[in-house]
Amino acid sequence: MCSVNVEWTQLAAVGHLVIALDLDGTLIPFAATPEEARIDGDTAALLEALSELPAATVGIVSGRPRDLVDDLVTRFPRLSVAAEHGVWRFTNGAWTAALPPVVQLDEIAQSLSALAQRHPGALIERKSCSVCLHWRRVGGEHHDEIAQAAEVLVDEWLETQPHLERLPAIEALEVRHRAAHKGGAVGWLRGLAPAGARVLAIGDDLTDEDMFVSLREHDVGMLVAAEPRRTQAVLRLPGPPAVHRFLRWLIDARARQPTAAVPDDVVPARAPRSSAAPRLIVASNRLPAAPTGDRTREVGGLVSALIPALSEAGGIWLGWSGAERDPGLRLRVEDGEAFSRAQFDYPPSWREKFYIGFCNQSLWPLLHAMPGRVRYHDDEWRVYTEANRAYAAQLLEAGGPETDIWVQDFHLMLVGRELRRAGHRGRIGFFLHVPFPPLDIFETMPWAAEVMSALLDYDRFGVHTQRWAGNVLATARGLLGVEGEARAKERLRVVPVGIDPDRFAEAALRPPSAELGQFDRLLGERKLILGVDRLDYSKGIPERLEAFARLLEVYPQWRNKVSFVQVSVPTRSEVPEYAELRTRVETLVGRINGTYGEADWVPVRYLYRSYDQDTLAHLYREAAVGLVTPLRDGMNLVAKEYIAAQDPTNPGVLVMSKFCGAAERMPLAVLTNPYHADGVAADLHAALEMPLLDRLSRYELLRATVWQDTASAWAQTFLADLRG
Ligand code: UDP
Repeated sequence: MCSVNVEWTQLAAVGHLVIALDLDGTLIPFAATPEEARIDGDTAALLEALSELPAATVGIVSGRPRDLVDDLVTRFPRLSVAAEHGVWRFTNGAWTAALPPVVQLDEIAQSLSALAQRHPGALIERKSCSVCLHWRRVGGEHHDEIAQAAEVLVDEWLETQPHLERLPAIEALEVRHRAAHKGGAVGWLRGLAPAGARVLAIGDDLTDEDMFVSLREHDVGMLVAAEPRRTQAVLRLPGPPAVHRFLRWLIDARARQPTAAVPDDVVPARAPRSSAAPRLIVASNRLPAAPTGDRTREVGGLVSALIPALSEAGGIWLGWSGAERDPGLRLRVEDGEAFSRAQFDYPPSWREKFYIGFCNQSLWPLLHAMPGRVRYHDDEWRVYTEANRAYAAQLLEAGGPETDIWVQDFHLMLVGRELRRAGHRGRIGFFLHVPFPPLDIFETMPWAAEVMSALLDYDRFGVHTQRWAGNVLATARGLLGVEGEARAKERLRVVPVGIDPDRFAEAALRPPSAELGQFDRLLGERKLILGVDRLDYSKGIPERLEAFARLLEVYPQWRNKVSFVQVSVPTRSEVPEYAELRTRVETLVGRINGTYGEADWVPVRYLYRSYDQDTLAHLYREAAVGLVTPLRDGMNLVAKEYIAAQDPTNPGVLVMSKFCGAAERMPLAVLTNPYHADGVAADLHAALEMPLLDRLSRYELLRATVWQDTASAWAQTFLADLRG
């Protein structure tokens, strides 16, 4: 990245210059479709002059597919041209591909085409390494709707596609190969030039930020935008005409033409910082999706709960963007309505070693007390410590030395220690959203004492239940002695997280979607047993299926009288155990349906997909039994959502594992042992038979807890305590 005080007029004198130019919105005005964006006479003359420029390597770096830049290549054969963000590269008369075509994109292209057909004006662009859905021409009032539907579809599918990523564009959404970005194209152009050349990159779109991020010291990034905005570029030009004036000046100035008039519309890119340092930063491994309008699904209860505190504090949420880049770790801060979002890309190998490795294959099973699934590698631990140090550095960059910082979850257990080492003076809190295991298990981690001690560097350490808190205290004592235990007592707080129950109660009352109407017909008079989980081994889904099979075997009166719907959301498919789990579950579903199914009855409906929360609210309300049976779970919000969505005059029954955090304050659920299939079957039978009066009395007390332990109560309580 170039320095902020770049003297851009010096570009005239730089030895060899690489010029990387975006096309649409930069050299030519943005049109409704790329086909309509024409290269007029002026632009053609400018491109001609650029292609003649001595001591320069000039490239057009476009997001367009190759066939939509073929015209450029023919007319200006001396220019280098990158299409599809650099997947296709034209230089010296020939095209080469930087990546092989990504065939699996056909699947998502099909689903997005079906979505586009329901929204007149939407269009799909299929390129060799990406698919883009544009909704510029869809009526403005439908933009949120199509954007949300596309994001749900794409995010779910991406769970099984580790090499692909979703990126937002202006009135569009693109899915592409992670390696297909404009930063790579800038590297390619740099490679065509002599060593030591400087780069000038100009672009308007979010995808052009990849060019700016790849720049080095003394390179120059210019954003094309009418208004200042957060960007990695240092300078800004207000629109394509200004780009033309600037490039004309550059051509003349490099030719030492005395007539070259210095353009006066090159300005600093970034808005001056509107406010002082934020008073609160929330950090999580992954940055949550931006809250816009009422698109609540992807925002999630936790984010909504933190919005009041963040917006009141001029706050920031900081986390990983979801992308991996070389070198990565460049902080991009975008101002939002409620709070700013600060994100950065992982450097190479972090996804594999930090996220998939140490977080998901060491810490996740360890903290869920499943030591048989844990494995430790020194190099992954090293990257975990390195990543935690880097998160701390990003937090220091985003905030001031006094900013209060609230760190979320097990990916970031060492961040507090690193912040303190770097001299941070503000309060630092930590919340663990997963269980904390007993000492005997925790100490199997080779670095157990170091992690425990780092956890006690936080001013406050929150967990969801008394049980996890008891384990923390015993572990602190076991590993760090009585002093450690005393320190833990002082810092530890039990604050159970919850949901926004009104949201679920209201959603359950709205008319169901067409898809659910169909489902109601299939269900008929049968009672619905519902399970909703990520497809994670901690959720006990195979065990639940075995228990359902036992119900049908031991209580045959329920055959053809119940339907078990299991929604399993794809998750962490890069971890081998998760792929095995999927196969195991599918085999079990097949076996149960094969054994007990009848011509007019499928006992288990297994849905390997996700639903938005409005749809879930309907399913919850329909369900006579909410079956929540994790082998272990930090809290479990589905249990609370199920209760919130019930009909208060005829509520269903929550059958819940006694090993999930939610059980502690919801003892009037039918508490069950997920390891004991016969027991769960008996509990299911009792729940299905439970008389209304019994259901009502349980529901009243469960309801009271759900409306008391809400997400916003959680956020307020913890923050008030942290700030002392
Ligand atoms: N969820 C969703 N769509 C689905 C399935 C689940 O939005 O198809 C949401 C669900 O409403 C809940 C969350 O995912 O808020 C799951 O949270 P929980 O605490 O139960 O489990 P976690 O996945 O965090 O382990």
